[in-house]
Amino acid sequence: MKWQVGKVTVTKIVELEVTGGSRFILPQATYEEILPIAWLRPHFADERGRLKMSIHALAVEAPGRRIVVDTCLGNDKQGRRIPTWNNLQTPFLADLAAAGFARESIDTVLCTHLHVDHVGWNTMLRDGKWVPTFPRARYLMGRTEFAHWQAQREREDMQAVFADSVAPVFEAGLVDLVETDHRVCDEVSLVPTPGHTPGHVSVRISSEGEEALITGDFMHHPCQIARPHWCSTADSDPAAAQATRERMLQRLAGTPTLVIGTHFAGATAGRIVRDGDAYRLDAQEGTGA
Ligand SMILES: [Zn+2]
Repeated sequence: MKWQVGKVTVTKIVELEVTGGSRFILPQATYEEILPIAWLRPHFADERGRLKMSIHALAVEAPGRRIVVDTCLGNDKQGRRIPTWNNLQTPFLADLAAAGFARESIDTVLCTHLHVDHVGWNTMLRDGKWVPTFPRARYLMGRTEFAHWQAQREREDMQAVFADSVAPVFEAGLVDLVETDHRVCDEVSLVPTPGHTPGHVSVRISSEGEEALITGDFMHHPCQIARPHWCSTADSDPAAAQATRERMLQRLAGTPTLVIGTHFAGATAGRIVRDGDAYRLDAQEGTGA
């Protein structure tokens, strides 16, 4: 699935899509609460009120640039807290190449934050060692975010992730630590959206008068557009996460900015419009769906 934003093309490459089983991440999103939000169906919830979620990467082609935003879970990883995320064997890299993005052709990898489902394909297993998947890329990571996780690297649930998916690219000299408002190129820049993690960023694309925003995890699911006060259990600072969500939704509502969700399933993207005292997403399916 692709979207055109002026001269920039954004392509979604899916690693995993799941329906249901997301109560652990959004405990307030019960079936009874989801069913009345009719616009969530069919893209973002099923007829029983179960949430649909996706883990995907977004390949951003700007003039002269080939950028991958967030690198999903990765294959062969161990020690993940969610058992089904261990030892994955998905065809993600083949799918990426088939979509026109051979891994050697990527010049930039951008991690919105350093959670397990955003850094996995930073590395791949070769002869028992974790090596950079994108050998010709600069890996952009937030300075604040990196410092936070480096300090937490002894925490049991982060240890494996940092060791197998962050440290190897850093040690290979491929990481540039950047500020939360860093400009990547004329068309692509970072937007600070803290709360989910201390250094969390979203990605703004701006070209020929058109705009898009890749959310990262300041929202996990479109139900938080209707219910901005619903926090994710993964938010490190729930109050800050909610404040960021409310500020961003207010800023985006009624504008033509295409909002592309990092974990939004189905259509994945759309425009934010006001709906009563909150908002809804008018889905905007990309081409090639
Ligand atoms: Zn995530």
